[in-house]
Amino acid sequence: MTPSIPFLDLVSLHRELKDDLLAVLDQAIDTAGYIGGPLVKKFEEEFAQFCTSRYCIAVGSGTDALRLAYIAGGIRPGDEVITVPNTFIATTESISQAGAHIVFVDIDQKTCTMDPAKLRSFLESGCVREKATGKTRNRVTGRPVTGVVPVHLYGHPADMDAIMEIAAEWNLLVFEDACQAHGAGFHSKKCGRWRMAGSMGTAAAFSFYPGKNLGALGEGGAITTDDPGIADACRMLRDHGQERKYYHDTEGYNGRLDAIQCGFLSIKLKKLPEWNDARRRNAAIYSRLLSGHKQVVIPFEAAWARSVYHLYVIRVNNRDALQRRLAEMGIATALHYPVPLHLQKPYAKLGHGIGSFPVAEHYARELLSLPMFPELTGEQIRSVADAVEIAVASGPMDTRE
Ligand SMILES: *Cc1c(COP(=O)(O)O)cnc(C)c1O
Repeated sequence: MTPSIPFLDLVSLHRELKDDLLAVLDQAIDTAGYIGGPLVKKFEEEFAQFCTSRYCIAVGSGTDALRLAYIAGGIRPGDEVITVPNTFIATTESISQAGAHIVFVDIDQKTCTMDPAKLRSFLESGCVREKATGKTRNRVTGRPVTGVVPVHLYGHPADMDAIMEIAAEWNLLVFEDACQAHGAGFHSKKCGRWRMAGSMGTAAAFSFYPGKNLGALGEGGAITTDDPGIADACRMLRDHGQERKYYHDTEGYNGRLDAIQCGFLSIKLKKLPEWNDARRRNAAIYSRLLSGHKQVVIPFEAAWARSVYHLYVIRVNNRDALQRRLAEMGIATALHYPVPLHLQKPYAKLGHGIGSFPVAEHYARELLSLPMFPELTGEQIRSVADAVEIAVASGPMDTRE
């Protein structure tokens, strides 16, 4: 009988840190330091340094981080912003919230992140670069196309060299959705070195939702950027557009991150490199055990990528059956994500039917996220791999073409 294995374990993660975490709470209560102040500043400096970015602005969530980055970066109402359909809806909700229109391009089969060739082909066949202004315009809608949002999905970076090059040619701002990729690495041929997720685009967004590689004890997020103007604009936007209290330059948002969450995050950030290494070790064990099975496609890690395995996602032909069988064997799994965004209700108005983005659609039918967290033991991973093996061997799993 296989022991029951959770998808994620946020209890043991915090147990060893409990005294330190409680000390943050003590300090906050003793000083009434709830909003702003030294804990926020300290965490922002530490996280900027971790990402090798000049600035970090802590905000209320990853969704806030995306929205504020787009607005501060220069996305204007009526613009079009390009991203992928296989991501969490926050990537696109925030485009709409900035007043812009969503354009999808399909993903690469192997990395499951934005396919630079499809980005290029959308721009070349669907857009014009205006000589006079240098601006890119969608030929069909006539709208300005001003931004692109690669998503570093599951902790694996998008192909940033290619995307940055295309963005430069077409005068597009690049916003990295790094909400699943704290500490991920991309080897830039252009720069001749490894670069950190969140340090390459115009600006990047991170989420500190509890289940992310770096999670708060509640909601949280951050923007990273090297641009001082964008950093200042994000600071204003998260705080009602005020430069100092009750003097407002613009309307903004209540998008601040609590001081106690910043205190918690500073403590947890120290452990992040070790946790990411553990995730990579766990992924390597899974991949070794599962690579022999013809019916199972293990996650691809590009030679230019250092994934931090926020999720370990396999592909199988008969996914729903496998998920059911694993559940019967006490193994929790999840789907990231079961329905591509272009087929979700809020985006029906965009008019993309089934078949519009075939790689993302095919992938959504086959993907399955296995348990993945730093404390997962080798024994647990073997149990999961054994269970997958038993399930696929017992048919009718092997209906793969
Ligand atoms: C988690 C996540 C977000 C949103 O972050 P929240 O903190 O939940 O608002 C955005 N994009 C991706 C890819 C995510 O995984």
